[in-house]
Amino acid sequence: MKVTKAEIVISAVRPSQYPETALPEFALAGRSNVGKSSFINKMLNRKSLARTSSKPGKTQTLNFYLINEDLHFVDVPGYGYAKVSKKEREAWGKMIETYITSREQLKAVLLIVDLRHPPSADDVMMYNFLKHFDIPVIIIATKADKISKSKWQKHLKVTKETLELDPEDTIILFSSETGEGKDKAWSVLQSYMKK
Ligand code: GDP
Repeated sequence: MKVTKAEIVISAVRPSQYPETALPEFALAGRSNVGKSSFINKMLNRKSLARTSSKPGKTQTLNFYLINEDLHFVDVPGYGYAKVSKKEREAWGKMIETYITSREQLKAVLLIVDLRHPPSADDVMMYNFLKHFDIPVIIIATKADKISKSKWQKHLKVTKETLELDPEDTIILFSSETGEGKDKAWSVLQSYMKK
């Protein structure tokens, strides 16, 4: 897909603030520092539209990006910060659950993981949480440029096995550095947009 326009339309905390359109939507989730902002920027051909992870303690918002007037990306605050308080963690969980269970146009969640390492306990929890609500998941295994090509298949296998990936879900090897996987990711998103 050719992205000609991409802008943040709102940072929302509650459903009344979500954009009132029926455009297909994809949410992006991942552990802090996994490379989620870099993924968004690469997909949208922008250098720094998505900022790198916000510090804990700051208001956690769902950032809605409007792309070509055709779809939304929804950036979900990163998880897995050791320093986040129980109260903040609960607020985060509630915000995500409300969004996921109420947003009809949500086509899939892109779960960003690091290809170099097996998914963390938090990644597994997030995946199970999404499956519990019957949400289609697209796994983006990023930072592929950081390991040699000969190891890609082995690492993909470990990622799938650790998550116990549902055969219905797609996994895409990605690199924000080289653009590896970008065309595939867009074609997968386009197929979900028609669902
Ligand atoms: P976020 O916290 O998940 O939004 O993570 P960022 O996008 O800010 O990325 C965290 C760090 O990883 C930054 O230093 C990025 O430059 C780096 N990074 C992200 N994606 C890639 C990638 O695909 N390849 C490489 N080599 N570095 C990456």
